[in-house]
Amino acid sequence: MGLRKGTKCRICKTKGKKTNAVVFLPQHRLALCKEHFIEWFEKRVEKTIKEFRMFHKNEKILVSVSGGKDSLALWNALIKLGYNADGFYIDLGIGDYSETSKELAKKFAERVNKTLHIVELKKEFYPIPTIDEKTNRPACSACGVIKRYYMNKYARELGYSVIATGHNLDDEVAVLFGNTLQWDLNYLSRQYPVLREENGFIRKVKPLCKITEKESALYSVFNNIEYIEYECPFSEGASSIEYKLLLNQLEEKHPGTKLKFYSEFLKKVYPIFKEFKAKQDKPLNKCKICGEPSYSEICGVCRLKREVENKLKIKREVSR
Ligand code: AMP
Ligand code: ZN
Ligand code: ZN
Repeated sequence: MGLRKGTKCRICKTKGKKTNAVVFLPQHRLALCKEHFIEWFEKRVEKTIKEFRMFHKNEKILVSVSGGKDSLALWNALIKLGYNADGFYIDLGIGDYSETSKELAKKFAERVNKTLHIVELKKEFYPIPTIDEKTNRPACSACGVIKRYYMNKYARELGYSVIATGHNLDDEVAVLFGNTLQWDLNYLSRQYPVLREENGFIRKVKPLCKITEKESALYSVFNNIEYIEYECPFSEGASSIEYKLLLNQLEEKHPGTKLKFYSEFLKKVYPIFKEFKAKQDKPLNKCKICGEPSYSEICGVCRLKREVENKLKIKREVSR
């Protein structure tokens, strides 16, 4: 991260100590030692939780963990900050990728001595590779709908009041960039780090929205957290990856660009889109098939299920 040799930790310096810095955060012009980077990270997460009034110390939080650096770093930070946080993992049935990430999530839960709830998609629905094969939808979009559905259903049934995901600044900026390129008012009006609870929907929060991908990777490494390093095989070619590359080039030249783009959107533009949303809001119904909250008659997951089952039925009839 462009750390010059011999640079000292800024916090140690204020205490009269000359410790070498191991991290340089260009967008904050801040050089820190390992101990003070960990402290800085946790304070920043706490500040974000307070800024957006995400949750309180007496609430039961469910951290949605993928086995990756962001969600495990988030779970670790929440526990260290004194929050009551358990984990939730969805086994998407994506071969080695799911097996490895599940083991890492389990290992972490044992280390912090917290409950990890595990849901197996193949028992509830169909695994992602089957859905990818049997529908015309991009796997990532179907996967997103499925994850949100089961996260919400289980959090509510298990008695948690809030779901925390590991979405980081890079994720949020890439999505914001994509939505802005399309001027997708609908998505832009929902891009906020807190989605409040309503009729069957649990509150959803993103406490790492002001933490970069590099920072959460460093935090995980410094805390000896083992995480899955490779991306999901289905995410290859996703446009968000292209946007991230582009935005990283900009950030390299002008540190702070991402944070500014995102923070100023939240401060100045989101309030305008929120008004738009209030006018457009459709009433929230219950899915006619499964009873889960949905803005249409039949929810996204039940529609997906129908699509897959129709394809499987046609295949069975043809092979008869
Ligand atoms: P992604 O959609 O893969 O970028 O992940 C965004 C966030 O969703 C992660 O930081 C996790 O909080 C959550 N998440 C992703 N995959 C899973 C999974 N298999 N089980 C539970 N939560 C997940
Ligand atoms: Zn220090
Ligand atoms: Zn449904």
